[in-house]
Amino acid sequence: GRRHDVLIIGGGTGGQAVASSLLKRQPDLDIAIVEPRSEHFYQPGWTLVGGGVFQRSDTSRPMQQIMPKDAHWYHAACSRFVPEQQHIVLEDGECIGYRILVVAPGLKLNWDAIDGIKDTLGQHGVTSNYVFDLAPYTWELVQNTSSGKALFTQPAMPIKCAGAPQKAMYLSCDHWQRQGQLGDMQVEFCNAGGVLFGVADYVPALQSYIDHYGIQVNYFSNLIAVDGQAKTAVLSVANADGEQQTIEKSFDMLHVCPPQCAPDFIADSPLAGDGGWLELNSDTLQHSRFGNVFGLGDVGNTPNAKTAAAIRKQAPVVAENIIMVLNGESPRAVYNGYGACPLTVERGKIVLAEFGYGGQLDPTLPRWLIEGTLPTRLAWHLKEKVLPWVYWNALLKGREWLVRPTVLPRPIPAQESVQNMPA
Ligand code: FAD
Repeated sequence: GRRHDVLIIGGGTGGQAVASSLLKRQPDLDIAIVEPRSEHFYQPGWTLVGGGVFQRSDTSRPMQQIMPKDAHWYHAACSRFVPEQQHIVLEDGECIGYRILVVAPGLKLNWDAIDGIKDTLGQHGVTSNYVFDLAPYTWELVQNTSSGKALFTQPAMPIKCAGAPQKAMYLSCDHWQRQGQLGDMQVEFCNAGGVLFGVADYVPALQSYIDHYGIQVNYFSNLIAVDGQAKTAVLSVANADGEQQTIEKSFDMLHVCPPQCAPDFIADSPLAGDGGWLELNSDTLQHSRFGNVFGLGDVGNTPNAKTAAAIRKQAPVVAENIIMVLNGESPRAVYNGYGACPLTVERGKIVLAEFGYGGQLDPTLPRWLIEGTLPTRLAWHLKEKVLPWVYWNALLKGREWLVRPTVLPRPIPAQESVQNMPA
């Protein structure tokens, strides 16, 4: 089989960003990307499709157009890793070798964890902004529902864009309010977790919108089954003693955020760590055991918010470190855990959560310009007009404005035990 300097698994946000970032640094690198899809998605736009602001077509582009001209594209899926022998295996059995492997296949929407949902998703009032084809159905349902019960669910963490289940709910409520229908709607947020948002600084602003829209929040309440025909949802709810009970709720509209996990071919591979996620060093994004393997994006086990915003900071760190390892050095560029979640609390205003590891606030712009813990019009303007452009023209092209990775003078001690540098 063939062998490449750098082999990237996944041509989504992370895979494309790293490829471009590497080519900016070293244009003659031999890079290949393994990606089975013919379309690339701008997933952060799906919230605005579900809110009637963007068209679905604004959020996808042909993969061919996105692939860097100087990278080789294997239009196929990876099925297996053999890191001891520095190669991967495609679904058709072809082996591809590498000096450096980058693993970025995203995560898996685990619909199997919700009984009956596959038969009803996209019909009977059951929708999800987490699926390209269904985000327009969310907006259709919101417009066609003027009274009754709307349920919005959120599974256990981690999920990509942890705020997205609420964003769908706030934008729906905003529409009903503008139509004078909110008083006839009974809106419930069924949250498997026990808090509105994982970083406490953003909770007061979000809670004020919950109160304003009159939303009932049910914590420790996890969707386990749906019957679309009967329009009922079954939730597993922890009572005061921590015992699980099941509760059935009827609905007119149900927005589901599915449980999420690592893709099977990662979870079942030698690269997996606890819970099946890709086992990475959280500073360098190098694999904890295989020194010529890196990873980024939603597949990683690092405790950052799984967002495209995180990849904006991760990609240059991975690129810098790959070049160091190719030169026989230990990686010294470090990632601080940055991620961002623009919470669309109403049409025209956003609470822009930006934070690093441990919930440390990490705003990009000065706080006098955007105070992230409060709803602002400027943050909405960014999300609607600026960030899509930044995504296609900067993040995917390796233009790293305002992003300079921290490079340490010496490698961190944890990296010294990592074996298997590239030949
Ligand atoms: P992806 O972009 O999902 O790409 C993974 C790629 O790997 C895919 O192209 C897939 O086809 C490919 N792949 C899968 N399996 C294989 C295989 N076996 N072999 C080869 N390739 C494979 N982020 C933000 O920053 N801000 C937001 O406001 C925001 N809102 C969001 C709203 C919604 C509704 C959703 C769903 C996501 C949102 N995100 C947001 C999150 C963001 O989209 C993801 O975090 C980001 O796209 C992750 O990039 P990734 O490269 O890890 O995975």
